Amino acid sequence: MTLTTFEEIGRVLREHQDFAILGHVRPDGDALGSQLALAQSLQQLGKHVRVWNEDGMLEKYSFLPRAELLTKPPAIAENVDIAIALDTAIQNRLGSALAAVASAKIWINIDHHLSNPGYGDMAIVDIDAPATGEIIFRLIKSQRLPLNHDIAENLYAAISTDTGSFQYPKTTARTFEIAAELVRAGGLDVGKISQQLYENYPRRRLELLRELLRTTHFTGNDRVASFSLSLKTASELAVLPEDNEGLIDHLRAVRGVIVAVFFEELAEGKVRVSMRSKDEAVDVCAICQKFGGGGHTLAAGARIRGSLGEVEERVLEEIREVVDRGP
Ligand code: 5GP
Ligand code: MN
Repeated sequence: MTLTTFEEIGRVLREHQDFAILGHVRPDGDALGSQLALAQSLQQLGKHVRVWNEDGMLEKYSFLPRAELLTKPPAIAENVDIAIALDTAIQNRLGSALAAVASAKIWINIDHHLSNPGYGDMAIVDIDAPATGEIIFRLIKSQRLPLNHDIAENLYAAISTDTGSFQYPKTTARTFEIAAELVRAGGLDVGKISQQLYENYPRRRLELLRELLRTTHFTGNDRVASFSLSLKTASELAVLPEDNEGLIDHLRAVRGVIVAVFFEELAEGKVRVSMRSKDEAVDVCAICQKFGGGGHTLAAGARIRGSLGEVEERVLEEIREVVDRGP
């Protein structure tokens, strides 16, 4: 892997003019916030920046400052000087945003996923960082790139969402120091941002949770908890893909549960599997990699071919084996 330094990346950012900043499909707050933050910092330097995501801006993150900068990628591919993939463990998770880059002189990969192989010409993969937003902050700070209120709010949202509101184990003193610096430098209203992030869900998200709870299943001596969403239920409730972000935390929050799993039936004969672990000895990234997915030790996912029932059976069996092996 061709790991590089903030200095090298800072130099490339200053020396080129034309950028595409990309993030993973089914984006989360970390991907979108990091993309918008870096884009605005480069714009402040007078650079031309495209900010693309296969899914475009999600309704629930549309409050992010300058959210309109982020668009779906164009159908006709474009040439850029520098293409930057953020928060994306494997290049093909950029989806149609990858296809929209016809050519780039340099590909930069900035991420914090354990399963990231370090693709691209220059890569910074810091698996200890709790969010890509934290790495972008350190890049901006160390290279004295522009930081203003709007950039700070995007980075704060990125870090807040990927740490589960500063709760997950990779949250360190440095994370709080960065958050404090963002709040101070940007004059951020933390209460307001938190309300927009965590107390502004559409009612259908709660209705979705009610349906998921009906399907809840415990196995492996109650150390594994799962629920599932069929296409039928999803269409009856008219849920959007973004509605289920975070619902899996209800399973993980149960005492005794080590692994939480969410199965979501997809239209293409596949099932999207989301996994969370509460124990470093149970590496859900490794489990998901067996099924062609990836992620972090404690949070990972995969898309697996098969019916909902088949995939549930295969995946739960694999998890039971790992959990039974013990620490
Ligand atoms: P989530 O469950 O929130 O969708 O994803 C949890 C973590 O696993 C994220 O960091 C995400 O990047 C990773 N992940 C989720 N689905 C996939 C997948 O299909 N392939 C890979 N490589 N990683 C995934
Ligand atoms: Mn992330």
